[in-house]
Amino acid sequence: MRPRDLLRPRPEGLYCPPGDFFIDPVRPVERALITHGHSDHARAGHTKVLATQQTLDIMGLRYGEGFARQTQAIGPGETVDVNGVRVSFHNAGHVLGSAQILVEHGGMRIVASGDYKRQPDPTCAPFEVVACDVFITEATFGLPVFRHPPASEEIARLLRSATQFPERAHLVGAYALGKAQRVIKLIREGGYEAPIYLHGALQRLCEYYASQGIDLGDLQPATVENSRKGEFAGAIVIGTPSAFADRWARRFPDPVSAFASGWMRIRQRAKQRGVELPLIISDHSDWDELTATIIETGASEVWVTHGREEALVRWCELNGIAARPLHLVGYEDEGD
Ligand SMILES: [Zn+2]
Repeated sequence: MRPRDLLRPRPEGLYCPPGDFFIDPVRPVERALITHGHSDHARAGHTKVLATQQTLDIMGLRYGEGFARQTQAIGPGETVDVNGVRVSFHNAGHVLGSAQILVEHGGMRIVASGDYKRQPDPTCAPFEVVACDVFITEATFGLPVFRHPPASEEIARLLRSATQFPERAHLVGAYALGKAQRVIKLIREGGYEAPIYLHGALQRLCEYYASQGIDLGDLQPATVENSRKGEFAGAIVIGTPSAFADRWARRFPDPVSAFASGWMRIRQRAKQRGVELPLIISDHSDWDELTATIIETGASEVWVTHGREEALVRWCELNGIAARPLHLVGYEDEGD
């Protein structure tokens, strides 16, 4: 069996012909296997969805309970048979509930890793290395320039700034699923115990994380209308990146604008967004994590998708690993 007989790109997404299923399809299909809850991977409208319980819960929160006609939960390390193809899910370390999907058939093992990272994250289970013949990797930060510092050091800079400017509100932009909760948890691990204020769009997912045993401390709504002027002086406020574009962000006293993203490595990006305090915190692998992971899987072939495919393909070739870009469309990193 050749790898492309087991998985191949189709307009709907990555397709398994013998199993008749798609992985993270971008259009509604009969049977979808979903790696994690980010909206570019987990879409509503499939007939049958197989995913971890946490990913199913997150899809239910975001799309409503009728997001698929039929759902099936699979635990990490558990194997199911889909039309004669062995399928198992393994932790990806990306966000709560995120999984890589191992597809096995006719002696061939392919891992579709979805999005993943190797840095420690107190809000989700760590990445598990799964030996395989073909490893399908993301390449969101697939250039050697991308090297993410330890996230705890970035949070320490935020906390120093909050101490240094007690009259200013610190507004931190963070994606709603995964990044916001990780930033909050890291702030708590940095010793900050005061209430943290949330934009309304973050509330339900933060409550869900707390219900899964991830203690985020005292969270309060960041409603400016009903509050006295100056109440948010010295406070830390977390909002979605899109919240920063609207009037909501302009109501806080002399805010320090911070943004938690792997893109903050690029000074120009921070400047363009008007970010005063860029925090390089990513839920995706950086260059070193990508290349180390490829080697650890022992894969003899690598398929590279969504991101900077060419550099990583070239790196694989230089290291004697067959590689090719998988031009899948429709993935635009909700959680970078
Ligand atoms: Zn993602």
